[in-house]
Amino acid sequence: YERDFEERFNIPHITDVFPDAEAIRSTFCLKMRSPTAEFSGGYPSDEEWHGYINNKDRVLLKVIKYSSPTSAGAVCIDPDCTWIEQWVHRAGPREKIYFRPEKVKAAIVTCGGLCPGLNDVIRHIVITLEIYGVKNVVGIPFGYRGFSDKNLPEMPLSRKVVQNIHLSGGSLLGVSRGGPPVGEIVDSMEERGINMLFVLGGNGTHAGANAIHNECLKRRMKVAVVGVPKTIDNDILHMDKTFGFDTAVEEAQRAINSAYIEAHSAYHGIGVVKLMGRSSGFIAMQASLASGQVDICLIPEVHFNLHGPHGVLKHLKYLIETKGSAVICVAEGAGQSFLENTNAKDASGNKVLGDIGVHIQQETKKYFKEIGVSADVKYIDPTYMIRAVRANASDGILCTVLGQNAVHGAFAGYSGITVGIINTHYAYLPIPQVIAYAKSVDPNSRMWHRCLTSTGQPDFI
Ligand code: ATP
Ligand code: MG
Repeated sequence: YERDFEERFNIPHITDVFPDAEAIRSTFCLKMRSPTAEFSGGYPSDEEWHGYINNKDRVLLKVIKYSSPTSAGAVCIDPDCTWIEQWVHRAGPREKIYFRPEKVKAAIVTCGGLCPGLNDVIRHIVITLEIYGVKNVVGIPFGYRGFSDKNLPEMPLSRKVVQNIHLSGGSLLGVSRGGPPVGEIVDSMEERGINMLFVLGGNGTHAGANAIHNECLKRRMKVAVVGVPKTIDNDILHMDKTFGFDTAVEEAQRAINSAYIEAHSAYHGIGVVKLMGRSSGFIAMQASLASGQVDICLIPEVHFNLHGPHGVLKHLKYLIETKGSAVICVAEGAGQSFLENTNAKDASGNKVLGDIGVHIQQETKKYFKEIGVSADVKYIDPTYMIRAVRANASDGILCTVLGQNAVHGAFAGYSGITVGIINTHYAYLPIPQVIAYAKSVDPNSRMWHRCLTSTGQPDFI
């Protein structure tokens, strides 16, 4: 399996470019008892204190063996199929580090949209850098733009500055879309003497981080560029989940609950809730499952018709006749083919989506008017309320570990990597492999089928 691992998940290291790069012993000391100490009978000697991660430690990417091609979700049952057994680098502190803490200038930048937990990650990057002995840590304001805008001075960061930032949502540093070309960013990094860059953002931000890493390689700069994936949609490949997702589902569930109360309290009430998910319906699916109050869940991965004998509207009529009310949960990227394509793009070049929530609301009103049945349709879009909340406890823990591991990865000499949780273990992955495309809900997966079982909805085709 080593061969396959080398091909796909090998992570770039500073010694690939600087074979003679000096390594020093880490002072990030972990007081753990060596297993050999048990046998030596006494208190462990200095030599036996350990707790570092070995560079050759690996995490298994997938832990399932399908015994039949008809097993739900089966991808490959060929015993020679290495797809099932791929390994990625285990994250964590290394004994040998490739940066002298006193010579490090670390920068943190947050780009894209808001996501619960950004402040938690910033906080733990700063705290961990300080523990390594780094004195020079700065925040780049308002995303990549902060590298080029002379009116945006860098923000000095220390444990004191970040101590309480996790108590609120948003990003201490601010975020933005768009920004200067990569060459300009790297010029600015050279000018500022930045040799560790921590980049918090989604697919676009990671594409940027990888380009920065490649540009640094080209210029033979000894710099570590480490990403922490920020996507509320949970659409990053290979990862169990990304930070902010749990919080988003929890908050989304509250919006669904309000929609349900509104719909249930009205005569022939219909609640429509639009949730985040540009190309992946994870939030809509999980929030529907969590709330148990959704009758129809619509996601970008599963085609549906609004009109026609098997369309959503016909089912709504059935629900109104049998239950008296209904709740629809729709992901923002669903049903885009029903909407006018404006070809509009945002500052980062992302397509501006049409509002499927408003469309469903209007079509529903029209339909019930046409069939002469009264219906009270209410639309809730909680997107900005969800994005801005602070992380919940489980995301807080995830952010803590990701922030710490980002710093460990940089000190270990890795660059062009990102950190994530894989099969409950923390790992480093090469950026290109995680941003190759967006992870999406598999309509054949058990989870989607569980969601359908929960809502009781038919196929809308
Ligand atoms: P979100 O999940 O909120 O969309 P994102 O990281 O995908 O997060 P974007 O607005 O797409 O957010 O991109 C963030 C930053 O990354 C922007 O400053 C943008 O200029 C830059 N960027 C996007 N795509 C690329 C790319 N292919 N190469 C270099 N930089 C990029
Ligand atoms: Mg994006």
